[in-house]
Amino acid sequence: MSDVPHRLPAISFEFFPPKTDEMERSLWESISRLAPLAPNFVSVTYGAGGSTRERTHSTIVRLLKETDLTPAAHLTCVGASRGEVDDVVAHYHEAGVRHIVALRGDPATGIGTAYVPHPDGYKTSAELVASIKKRFPDIDVTVSAYPEKHPESASFDVDLDALQAKIDAGATRAITQVFFDNDLYFRYLDRVRARGIAIPILPGIMPMHNFKQARAFVTRAGTTVPDWLAEKFEGLDDDAETRKLVAAAVAAGQVQNLAKHGVDTFHFYTMNRADLVFAICHLLGLRPNGARKAA
Ligand code: FAD
Repeated sequence: MSDVPHRLPAISFEFFPPKTDEMERSLWESISRLAPLAPNFVSVTYGAGGSTRERTHSTIVRLLKETDLTPAAHLTCVGASRGEVDDVVAHYHEAGVRHIVALRGDPATGIGTAYVPHPDGYKTSAELVASIKKRFPDIDVTVSAYPEKHPESASFDVDLDALQAKIDAGATRAITQVFFDNDLYFRYLDRVRARGIAIPILPGIMPMHNFKQARAFVTRAGTTVPDWLAEKFEGLDDDAETRKLVAAAVAAGQVQNLAKHGVDTFHFYTMNRADLVFAICHLLGLRPNGARKAA
């Protein structure tokens, strides 16, 4: 029996705005490689505290001008007044952007410290979603979801209240924080559906090119890295080639297991690299330019 579902899955890719010319070249190589897989949308992150505002904007505009892809611009409320955030949204709308990933953002003082909104700013992501939808009803708004609950949430109930508030404000889809244990996602999905929340909750999949770096990063954001996963990368700190093969095998296993349980939409945190994500999509049955895999 094949692990690949009959209906081809829908996919989306996340990139971050490049800092240097070299990173810019490698980002666009990755986009060229992944674009023929026909993602539903490609999103571009917004640096902590809005630090990449211009770079996110220029990457999104280039995607619009030079590709057939549908770009989704991430946007946070951190360190900016409502007026400033509204201007960013208006500029996106004027440029032709019709999809925003609306977030509160991490505290400017660092993850783990208390979030203090800008005195004139949006206090929550739900407020941001409501404002975008009120001013531009034709913008599709995606929000975040947390299978392990957000680290600031006192409980899953509080966390799901926040998700519900974002949906009530007009969000139509959520992307999860990265997770490695599929049971966490399925349990979360049960909780979400039990609340009557019906929007798609796209699992966020991150192939770990550099395990040590990625572990530090995701752990700070509240994602559990299971021991069995750490063990798979043991002794490979100086062996990038093998790490890459292991990372591909791990992420492919995770995605195929989700697919086997009926998940048919995936969001990939690409880290601006195409190789592993392309291979995983291939295993899911996706082929460039919509070609069907051989039966
Ligand atoms: P929310 O979902 O709005 O809130 C997080 C938690 O805070 C809630 O679960 C709830 O417990 C609590 N909370 C919020 N509002 C209330 C309320 N009114 N009452 C009670 N509790 C409340 N960060 C960036 O800087 N740039 C990015 O581009 C970026 N992209 C991301 C993409 C995805 C898919 C994800 C999952 C995260 C991303 N982040 C990004 C990280 C995100 O900014 C942080 O996780 C941040 O700490 C929370 O923002 P949020 O919009 O997810 O918060």
